[in-house]
Amino acid sequence: MISFKRAQALIEKNIPPGKMETVPLLASLGCVISEEIKSPLALPLFDNSAMDGFTFASGDTQEASPDRPLRLTIGGTIKAGDARIRSMPKQAWRIMTGAQIPHGADTVLMKEKAKIIQETLIICEPFMKGKNVRAKGEELKKGLKVISRGAAVNPAIVGILASLGKNEVPVYAKPRVSVIATGSELVAPGANLLHGKIYDSNSPMVCAALLRMGIRPVFAKRLDDDPKKIKQVIGHALRESDLVVLMGGISAGETDHVKPILKELGVETIFWKVRQKPGKPIYFGKKGSTLVFGLPGNPAAVFTCFYEYVYPAIRRAMGFQDPYLGSSFFPAETSIAADPEKSLFLKARVKLSQGRPVVTVLRGQSSHMISSLQEANGILVVHSNESIPQGQNALVHLLPNEGISTHES
Ligand code: AMP
Ligand code: MG
Repeated sequence: MISFKRAQALIEKNIPPGKMETVPLLASLGCVISEEIKSPLALPLFDNSAMDGFTFASGDTQEASPDRPLRLTIGGTIKAGDARIRSMPKQAWRIMTGAQIPHGADTVLMKEKAKIIQETLIICEPFMKGKNVRAKGEELKKGLKVISRGAAVNPAIVGILASLGKNEVPVYAKPRVSVIATGSELVAPGANLLHGKIYDSNSPMVCAALLRMGIRPVFAKRLDDDPKKIKQVIGHALRESDLVVLMGGISAGETDHVKPILKELGVETIFWKVRQKPGKPIYFGKKGSTLVFGLPGNPAAVFTCFYEYVYPAIRRAMGFQDPYLGSSFFPAETSIAADPEKSLFLKARVKLSQGRPVVTVLRGQSSHMISSLQEANGILVVHSNESIPQGQNALVHLLPNEGISTHES
């Protein structure tokens, strides 16, 4: 049996290098940029008005004062999207936010401050060049790096890429993932629950976790403990996927067929069993470049093993530089006993107590229980023999998307 750290290191070692592809702009959300992106344009694209107002040449206004006001005739209106026009000396133009500053003009007076008499703009002071003008290239020069390789695409990056006219984005490909739950006791939620059967909670939970990562499983199947059927479906999954997540049937019981079947299918075992709770009999193997995870079927084991092992493996393949759950230390609200031999992964909640974050261990830690997971925003890690006294810092792996509430609870 190996340690948690060793298991993570063995997985890292076996992840094939990320494949690159080009995807449509919106499909890049959640992906990692595979090639540095340089700006093909200057931003702003042209000198334009920062507000609705009047534009004219600042040079015309240098002698203007309340005693000697300057009168500029208004030539017309320039709207956002209009082609660039030419402004004549002693002329002003109504201009809208985002509209091009005309040739011959270089400054903008806010509409609310303008004094107009009979289509003539009255100027009583000198104006500075560039006032209320958004200058071409002030944000970004053409040819400069805008987005680094390794950046994770978020809505802001989608917006930036769109502003540069990009409709295709170079990213690392998302792995094709298949999900297979085994167990003759399992029925689909909503189906008839005959005596002795239980609902399959693992497949929907793992599919939901994958969807949150932007990954739609290539297929998700629920199978009886029937070796022939299991072999056929895993064989298909190995051909169609970059990563296969199996759940259940991976321990040493009589109906645990998954491990021998993987061997028959030519999957190389990299490890089986980790000194941890929950999820001790976790399996990791590979065939060619396809990775195979066998997660013990207890739902809390599936949840923990997914986030500690499968999640980082998928994210590494997707090009994330730091694919693991974020981690941080928080004072333990109560003392936490270690196990002498195993690392413990405890469902935990980081919350505010009198304005300071503390971590609390949730009720229902057994591996068949998941109801308290709904409150969890982290997994508290207790390494073997390292009990945590009350108030001492405990290591918490933070679950993605759950956040830490800023409300006292
Ligand atoms: P196994 O790993 O197949 O020995 O299963 C361990 C425990 O997890 C058993 O109590 C199973 O009934 C339960 N279990 C296995 N698969 C699932 C599943 N997909 N959803 C809910 N519970 C499951
Ligand atoms: Mg089973």
